[in-house]
Amino acid sequence: MGARANRGYFGRFGGAFAPETLMPALAEAWEAYGRFRADERWQAEYARLLETYCGRATPLYEAVNLGKRLGGRARVFLKREDLNHTGAHKITNALGQALLARFMGKGRLIAETGAGQHGVATATAAALLGMECDIFMGTVDMERQLPNVFRMNLLGARVVPVPSGGKTLKDAVNEAMRDWTRTVRDTHYAFGSALGPHPFPTIVRDFQSVIGRECRAQVKAAAGKLPDEVVACVGGGSNAIGIFSAFIKDAGVKLVGVEAGGRGLRGAEHAARLTPSANSRPGILHGSYSYVLQDKDGQISNTHSVSAGLDYSAVGPEHSHLFESGRAAYTYATDKEAVGAFKALCECEGIIPALESSHAVAYAIKNAGKMKKGSVVVINLSGRGDKDIDSVAKFLGGAAS
Ligand SMILES: *Cc1c(COP(=O)(O)O)cnc(C)c1O
Repeated sequence: MGARANRGYFGRFGGAFAPETLMPALAEAWEAYGRFRADERWQAEYARLLETYCGRATPLYEAVNLGKRLGGRARVFLKREDLNHTGAHKITNALGQALLARFMGKGRLIAETGAGQHGVATATAAALLGMECDIFMGTVDMERQLPNVFRMNLLGARVVPVPSGGKTLKDAVNEAMRDWTRTVRDTHYAFGSALGPHPFPTIVRDFQSVIGRECRAQVKAAAGKLPDEVVACVGGGSNAIGIFSAFIKDAGVKLVGVEAGGRGLRGAEHAARLTPSANSRPGILHGSYSYVLQDKDGQISNTHSVSAGLDYSAVGPEHSHLFESGRAAYTYATDKEAVGAFKALCECEGIIPALESSHAVAYAIKNAGKMKKGSVVVINLSGRGDKDIDSVAKFLGGAAS
């Protein structure tokens, strides 16, 4: 059991399905990570930066107006990850991995990015710690996310264009892994979510678990009890596993992951891997065994979501396990529902949420009628939505015509 956990399995999911050339680097990262976690000086430095640089602990805010709008049956709290430096939970992982790289004596960080959010977080951490940084990004994504390309450049990172395949996130991960096989000696690959081969799903979860630890103490102080429900959006799954991790042992706390329903589950224009759909089943993508959107021949499906951060064909392996064991429930919100929730939060709370986070808010709106009287619901507000205002304007313009 211990040995199996050490190989990075969550039930039957996870593992490390990587090329031979990468296996030593993965083993080295796992071994070094164990020492990093036990090293008080490095842990104190991480804690100091989380507090003074990132702005942790992030507040737990009771959204009274939203609660009223949902019928007043439940108390609704928002875990304000949007108030982190660089605007989302991602910096917490990027900074942890940059410190881990430094701890291992490595001077170069690489990462994949889709929309550019993880690229910006990694470039930020690299600038802070004086590291060389290369971010792999599909050329289609570069065109779509030009401001983030410019941000990464300002922060001193190189953005490496990936013109192969679909020229998006999946291809960027492939290219970053290829680079890593050549450069492992001086380079650490900072995965952006709780994905990829062991040990990344565990390392990223551990770094993001600070969300759950903070939230557990905050909700007990504010509501006098544990929450009845904890809701988070699920892209790769890092913000969700980060907040879930503190409540997994509390059987009375319902955990809900919300995936991108895109244009609906009937076709392939969504990224719902754990909500039963014709094209999702277990398989291997990017080094890990988990639920993957694929056609009947095993070709990885392209996905669609109005929010770039949820637009990925696979899901972190621990979520597949929580899904099959029944400990967490997974559902979806469509583009339209997410944009509706985005507008609702802007209007009634004065908070512009990320479109990703809006999926979690949409779940609360959709299920308001089912909430028990006097229950406590926590929504993980994974990021702020300034980056999304163009997408929302375009969606509303398109939807109106
Ligand atoms: C990247 C991102 C996500 C999706 O990533 P997870 O690993 O599933 O958390 C969600 N919200 C925001 C704001 C993001 O930037």
